[in-house]
Amino acid sequence: MDIDTYNKKRDFTKTKEPKGSKADSSQNGQRFVIQKHQATNLHFDFRLEVEGVLKSWSIPKGPSTDPNEKRMAIPTEDHPLAYAEFEGTIPEDQYGGGTVMIWDKGTYRDISDDNNSLATAYKNGVMEILLNGNKIQGGYSLVKMNSGSQKGNWLMIKKDDMHADGRKNPVSTQNKSVVSGRTLQGIEKEQ
Ligand code: MN
Repeated sequence: MDIDTYNKKRDFTKTKEPKGSKADSSQNGQRFVIQKHQATNLHFDFRLEVEGVLKSWSIPKGPSTDPNEKRMAIPTEDHPLAYAEFEGTIPEDQYGGGTVMIWDKGTYRDISDDNNSLATAYKNGVMEILLNGNKIQGGYSLVKMNSGSQKGNWLMIKKDDMHADGRKNPVSTQNKSVVSGRTLQGIEKEQ
């Protein structure tokens, strides 16, 4: 699902979200962002910079720091790189209507032991990455399910490394924006 899908879903005369375009893939800084999104259902949107776009997943429970907790990650349309800076409110009658917080952001790198590009890894449905964010750090696997009732959805799984911690639960203990320090309610009020 590419950027055209992103643009078709949105009316840019009504929403303040950035209009979609694909950036020069040579500027591949490999950013990641996790946006907490209070829409119809509260969820976390996980986005990885891959070849000029943000590959995106909706994670209902958010990322875990516990290697024993597999988190469902539902793939969504590619978002423009500028979306990594978006924090604010989407009008209720628009796609994804509700409040968006930049919950965490940082950089990531590929830690798979093959020579595939990240774009190929995404296509193949297996990504091994190391996240360096403010709230979330360390290795994660992202694996697409190829069979069963959840076919097409992915799982996000913490690797068992020095950042693994089953007692930590940042998605419920840390509720403020990494860029503005605001809560979801604070962002909603200021719009
Ligand atoms: Mn969302």
